[in-house]
Amino acid sequence: MTDTLQRFLMDRSDVRGELVQLDAAWQSLLKSTRYPEPVKRLLGEAVAATALMAETIKFDGNLTLQAQGDGPVKLLVVQVTSERTFRATAKCDETVEAGSLSEMIGKGQMVITVEQGESRSDYQGVVPLEGERLQEALAAYFERSEQLSTGMWLAANTDRAAGLMLQKLPESQVSSDDDLWSRVKQLADTVKADELLTLGGTEVLHRLFHEEEVRVFEGVEYQFRCNCSRNRIANTIYSLGEDDAQALVAERGSIEVDCQFCHQQYRFDAVDVTQLFASDSASSSDQVH
Ligand SMILES: [Zn+2]
Repeated sequence: MTDTLQRFLMDRSDVRGELVQLDAAWQSLLKSTRYPEPVKRLLGEAVAATALMAETIKFDGNLTLQAQGDGPVKLLVVQVTSERTFRATAKCDETVEAGSLSEMIGKGQMVITVEQGESRSDYQGVVPLEGERLQEALAAYFERSEQLSTGMWLAANTDRAAGLMLQKLPESQVSSDDDLWSRVKQLADTVKADELLTLGGTEVLHRLFHEEEVRVFEGVEYQFRCNCSRNRIANTIYSLGEDDAQALVAERGSIEVDCQFCHQQYRFDAVDVTQLFASDSASSSDQVH
């Protein structure tokens, strides 16, 4: 099974874990992009990490990881929805050398935003851009902001984006197995990028934790899907106001918008734009009568 996230529990739920491996979905995200290799790797790791985070929380809408800085990678955005779809994009220099997280993003900030649905307000957390890799920055963030001991191991190439996460649950009872957390974290530290990127999920978990008591839940599927639409773009044009929208059409012949996530092109010509505002006045006059 590909494009799967598997949750598991260890030793009567003292430690929870997740393993995500995105293959076809990750490949189709990359298909329309031309990022340098190191950016593909960083983006893949960010996609895997965001899926891992999404599965640990209850939310309704989007979970977004966004990094912005003055380094060779100017912008990195990954969005995972509560329907288990994801999309991602990056803005970067034409050539980017592989480097540490702070070398690639530069001075800037990384923010996690969670839309929690109508009943609860949105949540935002700032992740300091520190550590050699994204996995270290995120693990440190969980330790600090959620007081959850966390380990994260990420890997990506052009075939697969993969990640493993372990968290020590705060509500865990005084366990007879005191060193479970340090033991399983040490085991996970031995995982090689190559194993995450080539082996099946069950095999990875078996290799690492075969001496532990692991309860693996049925995997859930993640899909690459962009939720852009002609309608959404129309709303954006509409928000410009009729005068500005028509001025743009007059200047360029049409308004063309590329989705930054999936690179779908949307084109609105003079007739489209006129209709957009005409249908609005028609519907608002309907409301009057
Ligand atoms: Zn799109």
